[in-house]
Amino acid sequence: ELANRMTERAVDVIKFLMKQGQMHKINDVIEADLAELIVIEFGHTPKRVSEADVEEGFLGGEDREEDLEPRAPVVTVMGHVDHGKTSLLDALRKENVVAGEAGGITQHIGAYQVETESGHPVTFIDTPGHAAFTSMRARGAKVTDVVVLVVAADDGVMPQTIEAIDHAKAAGVPIVVAINKIDKPDSDPNRVRTELLQHEVIVESMSGETLEVEVSALKHMNLDKLLEAIQLQAELLELKANPDRPAEGVVIEAKLERGRGPVATVLVQRGTLKVGQVVVAGRSWGKVRALISDRGENTVQAGPSQPVEILGLDSAPEAGDQFAVVENEARAREITDYRQRKLREVKAAGAGTRGSLEKMMSQLGEEGAKEFPLIIKGDVQGSVEAITSALEKLGTDEVEARVVHAGVGGVTESDVTLAKASDAAVVGFNVRANAQARQAARQEGIEIRYYNVIYDLVDDIKAAMSGLLEPTL
Ligand code: GDP
Repeated sequence: ELANRMTERAVDVIKFLMKQGQMHKINDVIEADLAELIVIEFGHTPKRVSEADVEEGFLGGEDREEDLEPRAPVVTVMGHVDHGKTSLLDALRKENVVAGEAGGITQHIGAYQVETESGHPVTFIDTPGHAAFTSMRARGAKVTDVVVLVVAADDGVMPQTIEAIDHAKAAGVPIVVAINKIDKPDSDPNRVRTELLQHEVIVESMSGETLEVEVSALKHMNLDKLLEAIQLQAELLELKANPDRPAEGVVIEAKLERGRGPVATVLVQRGTLKVGQVVVAGRSWGKVRALISDRGENTVQAGPSQPVEILGLDSAPEAGDQFAVVENEARAREITDYRQRKLREVKAAGAGTRGSLEKMMSQLGEEGAKEFPLIIKGDVQGSVEAITSALEKLGTDEVEARVVHAGVGGVTESDVTLAKASDAAVVGFNVRANAQARQAARQEGIEIRYYNVIYDLVDDIKAAMSGLLEPTL
């Protein structure tokens, strides 16, 4: 590749390396310093591309306060399985389409926008659950402004409800509670309110600050009220963006479609994206051939908080990738080449070690971090509670353990993603990780530690916090 870029013959580069006493094959990866030397030796001018150059490649820069305008909130729906997340998302969209354009066809592009009765737009991410939410966050993308927590009134707070609460809290995103299935004769909304109290979600009718709305996704009851509550919560956040600049945002989903090529749904976070512009999305790039709205219509542009499908990319990016408009195709190619190279380097170097107790220890030393984030999974509620409270008592003036999430059951992939997003380590007590979780942990370099004696567990964390931990072998 280096030879190629210099328009030299690969054998000449390999020969030169041999003269330096370095034996290499044609596809070997070499050090940047050595590459630079070769480039100079061959009479070319090296130019090192860094992350900073990549940033520079994006048009725009910081926004001035006076250029900011209100934007729609972006909402993710979370909650326990079968509590009605999908039904709610479908109901909200149908309601709106019927009201707007009779018989309008909607298509699933991964996100859609609806309007409240007072005419405010609200954007919903069309993939319910905390898996998508947290995996995006783990990739550095902050997408969600408000979480709608769906709790079925006939079932109450369940394990994934608690998980969703923890995920939202870890991300610092406010919750609006949708108490669903109130059409059912055995529904008991007040039980939901009381149970939420135990997880520090205090709803308004119990003198708290979390807005709650009783709904029925099935019978389309109170959907307008839910939208108003979301809008109210959003107003408190004063969400703003500059619409008048080259667009930036995040990829919500992407796929390869027969006949259409790579298709990516993006959410514009600032600026306005237009047909004909050149965009970079993760390691993909392209000239925007067409933009398709959530109503399946061609559109010429998309502004802040608007989801839109992009056609014209050279490959499908990944959900959670950032996208940005760049000056021209050459710039786009330079940035994506750099990113592809980086990825190969990272892969060659093996996964990092973020989320391990040792890594956290060294971070404590370097950055004077104050918190020690942990995810605790155990076999029974009693032991999980005992461990959590023992760990929370360990804190000193300098450092304290912060339990990001604690729950009953084996370590799952969702725990690992949350660990990655929160830079936490995962601790299993009398439980193991399932295969997907183990694989994800390996890939992301997240450490999972297992214990069957509470004392050992607490002791290890204590040691880690004071910087005395023996590494696991
Ligand atoms: P999800 O797993 O959270 O996405 O839940 P679904 O949306 O798939 O709903 C699970 C089941 O609950 C389905 O059979 C729905 O028809 C039903 N359901 C959802 N919302 C309501 C509701 O408001 N009332 C009643 N009676 N059933 C509902």
